[in-house]
Amino acid sequence: MKRSIFYLLSIIFCLSVSAETKYVFYFIGDGMGANQVMLAEMYRSAIEGQPLGRVQTLMTTFPYSGHLSTYSKTNGITDSAAAGTCLATGAKTKNGMLGMDEDSVRVTTIAEELKAQNWGIGIMTTVAIDHATPAAFYAHVPNRNKYYRIGEQLAESNFDFFGGAGFHHPQGKHDDKKVNLYRLAEDKGYTIARGYEEAITRSRDHEITKLIMVQEGDTGMNHGSNLTYAIDRKPGDLTLAQIVSTAIPFLDARHEKFFMMVEGGMIDYACHGDDAATEIGEVWDMDEAMQAAYDFYLAHPDETLILVTADHETGGLALGNSDYTLHLDLLQNQKCSAWILSDKFSQLFQGKNKPTWEAVKQVYRQNLGFWETVEVTADEEKELQALYKAACKGRTKDTKTMYKSINKLGDAGIALLNKKAHVGWTTHAHSAHPVPVFAIGRNAHLFSGWHDNSELVPLIRKAIQE
Ligand SMILES: [Zn+2]
Repeated sequence: MKRSIFYLLSIIFCLSVSAETKYVFYFIGDGMGANQVMLAEMYRSAIEGQPLGRVQTLMTTFPYSGHLSTYSKTNGITDSAAAGTCLATGAKTKNGMLGMDEDSVRVTTIAEELKAQNWGIGIMTTVAIDHATPAAFYAHVPNRNKYYRIGEQLAESNFDFFGGAGFHHPQGKHDDKKVNLYRLAEDKGYTIARGYEEAITRSRDHEITKLIMVQEGDTGMNHGSNLTYAIDRKPGDLTLAQIVSTAIPFLDARHEKFFMMVEGGMIDYACHGDDAATEIGEVWDMDEAMQAAYDFYLAHPDETLILVTADHETGGLALGNSDYTLHLDLLQNQKCSAWILSDKFSQLFQGKNKPTWEAVKQVYRQNLGFWETVEVTADEEKELQALYKAACKGRTKDTKTMYKSINKLGDAGIALLNKKAHVGWTTHAHSAHPVPVFAIGRNAHLFSGWHDNSELVPLIRKAIQE
């Protein structure tokens, strides 16, 4: 009896000693401050008629959490390149810089470090695979806009899986004599899979060791810049959840250990547009993509670490703008993103004949529920009508945001709906708000508490080594 207890204890001891970190999932919600997550949860609670806080994202159920400060080497408010570099290397750098410190010296990323130790590496996003955050894990350039050079470095990275919209400028921006980046990647041994179906087929082919998964029909020319927003999605559009659920078995079948960076890149895009309803869809979309990683963790709880954080906050999002109430349920009246709404208004004003006020009202009615399920006061209508009259005379200017210029009538409609929901924004740019960290799995406790973003990579290293 004593002997069998001894054996049992020694087996448990051996198991606990031999367990090691083999799988690291690193989720980055671009622009996702704590309020972005809070808004997503409170909105769902509101529209599902649940008590506030009842409907939780997967990430906020994780047992450990903390916050990160995000300032860059040079700016109180970081951009995604400096923040991405810091989250990938631990080094603070200048805004705009990728994979280099402020003196333009190359810094090694955690992904490169693990690749050198034979880990499988996957980098995926809802935006272009050469955009700042994903590029921060494999590229080293002094300027994040050097998309062609970043694409070349992607092909040279030897990482195992890339997933996202595509490349920004596969032919180079100004020089169409350059080798197409998809061809270049193929020359370096990558297989390109366009769309979910093709990616599934390719990922099961064991002859294929390096895969790039992009949306169907991507030829560059802006189609490669981002996936469709969740709020605008049509059947057949590629999703982040599909990319992650393709990447996990692909990496697992080919590598004993793997590291995956998954970016919810369009949370940032929605917040640059001060567009709450679209932001909510993007947060839930990243959370849904996390489910496949969470299922993998449940199957390998002693060897898996899931980490969720953000590079910075975008929009200066505030929940509450007057009394002690929120009316988030009003946001469900929004049927498309600010981007699509902007296009609808721009189309309406194309050509010689200007639309009637009634036609403009119809666009507001159909896409934001104004005058139907959303009450519009006489004063508010007057303001919208004044903008309409100015637009008829060509006197309105689009609102410039980071990724799209938004038609003034669309921007004003979204702003009015947000105001009625008691959601406020201080900027169309980034803010210095701290960002959340959520962690579960092996050595997840290391990530609780308040840290600077430069401390995260050393902590990941520690979580792997211990
Ligand atoms: Zn941004």
